[in-house]
Amino acid sequence: MEQPIAVTRQSFDDWMVPVYAPADFILVQGEGSQVWDQQGKSYIDFAGGIAVNALGHAHPQVKATLIEQAGKLWHLGNGYTNEPVLRLAKQLIDATFADKVFFCNSGAEANEAALKLARKYALDNSGSEKNQIVAFNNAFHGRTLFTVSAGGQPKYSQDFAPLPGGIIHTPFNDLAAAAEVINAQTCAVIVEPIQGEGGVLPADPLFLQGLRELCDRHGALLIFDEVQTGVGRTGHLYAYMQYAVVPDILTTAKALGGGFPIGAMLTTNRLATTLSVGTHGTTYGGNPLAAAVAGMVFSLINTPAVLEGVKQRHQWFIDGLNQINQQYPIFAEIRGGGLLIGCVLNKDFAGKAKQITQLANEEGVIALIAGPDVVRFTPSLIIPEQDVKEGLARFARAIARICS
Ligand SMILES: *Cc1c(COP(=O)(O)O)cnc(C)c1O
Repeated sequence: MEQPIAVTRQSFDDWMVPVYAPADFILVQGEGSQVWDQQGKSYIDFAGGIAVNALGHAHPQVKATLIEQAGKLWHLGNGYTNEPVLRLAKQLIDATFADKVFFCNSGAEANEAALKLARKYALDNSGSEKNQIVAFNNAFHGRTLFTVSAGGQPKYSQDFAPLPGGIIHTPFNDLAAAAEVINAQTCAVIVEPIQGEGGVLPADPLFLQGLRELCDRHGALLIFDEVQTGVGRTGHLYAYMQYAVVPDILTTAKALGGGFPIGAMLTTNRLATTLSVGTHGTTYGGNPLAAAVAGMVFSLINTPAVLEGVKQRHQWFIDGLNQINQQYPIFAEIRGGGLLIGCVLNKDFAGKAKQITQLANEEGVIALIAGPDVVRFTPSLIIPEQDVKEGLARFARAIARICS
């Protein structure tokens, strides 16, 4: 066999479109919640590939499923359905409010499908005037032009104008403000039960309940973007279950494939008929390889033991982070749910989240940011206690350094 091409971190700057600024080391191997770089240095993984590797790295059963399916059938195209995708659809339907599922490859695509469904449903049932989408400031829904426009951070969309119209933004967790803009012309409201990228900010239960009532009153569809909060992340299979507010459409991706790209839009029978044959689609959506892996990931996570384990791990993190904060007062607030945790830096450390994650890397732990002022943790849902302890000890050393 030919020698593989030699690559270093410099290769990224040489060859890659510079939309990312990756860390200055390259990870090459992972097992459970540990990863290793090219030099063999070990890191505890508190990021889980940004809330994706929900069962850690190289999970034996997921790996076995991938290898088994790889020997059978990788791809067919949508002119032919397949067994893994039908089984995965049934798993999602049995576990949620949904009657029907549309599969795609990412969170953005799932939201794109949801927004298109909402527009067409309103057009078919109420006419072309009912086309307004209400979204929230600081929301994140993906990077396609429609979803980045629905997102509530103009810095991600403004350079790509003209943007799709008919999208109104209003403050998150402000029901009175939402009531001002939701009306007969609203076709959908899209909201994250916990704003992830926007700073790990949980929705107030009364806010989501109020949105449900406003949508019902004005005949608008309620879309929950659970791309980050779904598949056990909060200690509930989906966050809507904890809020006891049922959406009309739910989007899920990230943890669904445990590291293999897949996304899905879940909805009801009544709405699903809107997307009749030929109205929407995607080549890879429902690919048997992705669906087989997701089916195994979903069945491993959707158990009382794993979901309860997330709540227990939440407490390990909260206790450890509070302890660090007592020694080095740096966080104004520690918030989030389950294993989606955000540490909000106090004003003395404002803007230093990225620097903290860089120091954390040096100490041997992978952490995330959620904006410039929040350090975010989204580890594996089954991370072992000793890895939590060791990772927090390493993180504490990083905090000690930024405080000195
Ligand atoms: C990550 C994320 C997305 C986008 O998902 P991609 O797979 O990157 O397209 C959308 N919504 C939320 C809430 C997310 O966290």
